Amino acid sequence: MKLICIGRNYTDHIKELENEKPTDPVVFLKPDTAILLKKQPFFIPDFSDDVHHEVEILVKINKVGKHIQKKFASKYYDQIGLGIDFTARDLQRQLKEKGLPWEKAKAFDGAAVIGDWLDKTRFPDVDNLNFSLRKNETLVQQGNTSHMLWKIDEIIEYVSKYFTLKIGDIIFTGTPAGVGKVVANDKLVGCIENTQMFSITVK
Ligand code: ZN
Repeated sequence: MKLICIGRNYTDHIKELENEKPTDPVVFLKPDTAILLKKQPFFIPDFSDDVHHEVEILVKINKVGKHIQKKFASKYYDQIGLGIDFTARDLQRQLKEKGLPWEKAKAFDGAAVIGDWLDKTRFPDVDNLNFSLRKNETLVQQGNTSHMLWKIDEIIEYVSKYFTLKIGDIIFTGTPAGVGKVVANDKLVGCIENTQMFSITVK
């Protein structure tokens, strides 16, 4: 399985990193080895002094598809989750400056937190979901999927032009503003609406 990630999908986050607003979605992949194992702490890798949390709504693909049209996209997932796209921001900055791929900064072991899954039928509208991240009980990130530049169905249409989507693939849909550094002993708790989706400790 693969993790397909969308970058720069919320205007407020684009501004905070002083990035340009993209004309197409920014897409990158993480391998399955990036998934943080359940109940394990996240270990800050020794090659970075500036690992950031990026809380993101996740979508789990339940059907094989290629060139999926937006109007059919909702048939390709029935579960919504929440996760963290951990990013070694210092390394990513160096790679960006040189125009190099981001994998070393984003696809390292443990860099993908995947929380619990919820049936999408539980929500009246997946394009109007509130989600949040608390760090040591302080609210640090808060988003609503209505603020995505590319909504879930549009993301599925776009990425399936390039990659065949397979059962179990997971899409990370981008992060809202409030990304920030994690340090040892931080506790990160993510919620969709009022439901806790994950809780992890940083080491
Ligand atoms: Zn991200």
